[in-house]
Amino acid sequence: MQFSDYFFMPLDEIRDEDLVDVDRCGCCGAKNAFRQLRLFREKPQIHFVKCRRCGAVTYDRMLRKEKLDEVYEKYNYLDNDEKDHTGDKITFYGKERFARHLMKMMKPLPEQNKIRILDFGGGDGSLSYALGESIMQTGRYDSVEIVVVDYTDTPCVSKEKNISLTHCFPLSALPADELFDIVIASAVLEHLPSPGREFRQLVDLTALGGYLYFRSPYKYPLYCLMKRLGITLDMRYPRHIWDFSSSWWHRIVVCLHLEDQLTVVKDGPSITEKTMKDHFLMAIGANLLKAPGRVTRRWHYVGGWEILYRKTADKKRKQNENKA
Ligand SMILES: [Zn+2]
Repeated sequence: MQFSDYFFMPLDEIRDEDLVDVDRCGCCGAKNAFRQLRLFREKPQIHFVKCRRCGAVTYDRMLRKEKLDEVYEKYNYLDNDEKDHTGDKITFYGKERFARHLMKMMKPLPEQNKIRILDFGGGDGSLSYALGESIMQTGRYDSVEIVVVDYTDTPCVSKEKNISLTHCFPLSALPADELFDIVIASAVLEHLPSPGREFRQLVDLTALGGYLYFRSPYKYPLYCLMKRLGITLDMRYPRHIWDFSSSWWHRIVVCLHLEDQLTVVKDGPSITEKTMKDHFLMAIGANLLKAPGRVTRRWHYVGGWEILYRKTADKKRKQNENKA
């Protein structure tokens, strides 16, 4: 029996000739560090593997680049879900709910006139726009500037003159001296062949005192549990190629030598993607599974994890300290 919590994705045909073997961890860069886990699928044969260094769970075979690009050209957003009529090009239900959630986590916000937000992989930027509106409602800022980095080339239209949205792609096209007060990478790292590279770039683009928010799937323990019950949980392969445990977010910072720059503000089971209004049973199920994870770190059947870091030192300062 198959179980999927994804409503608007066409099933991808996976052919042997479209796959390449993976032997280097795209997160921490370790070579031949994968430990084979259980079989993921028989034909073509693909196994789950786990990096011995950073702890990321991934697959021993992935789609080659051209094929992956093809998959993303057909990417479906929320506006394809019949139950959602907002037309937003995002994959999260209830953007105001998301904005409130982030506002609660990010305290204090930087004290300055303008807040700059980098929305990495945020579709049309609807989520960061909702956050921008919440920031403006505090009455403490003159303006919010949002840069959306995504395949989608048109960001949503701003209805407020003090909130601007621009689009840029890829991430490396952003000038290195651009700095952002808030960086959002919500449900994006799991899609990237080398998320370690983008993780580092995002840290470099964060201003001192700024925040970085990540949200990604943590489904492998749940997959194994459901298998025992004879149910195959949809891991959304080949779109999702990484599964990050709660400890991965701490380990990757050390593997990438960023522990002097980042401090964890808050982490835990991620905010539920669906609302009771849109998908009642799915939302109830997700909330029930996540609840024990909010109390104890020993509960791993949470489906997704989120973390907020704060940049508490920058690279240049650290280098200068080392020289002195
Ligand atoms: Zn690794």
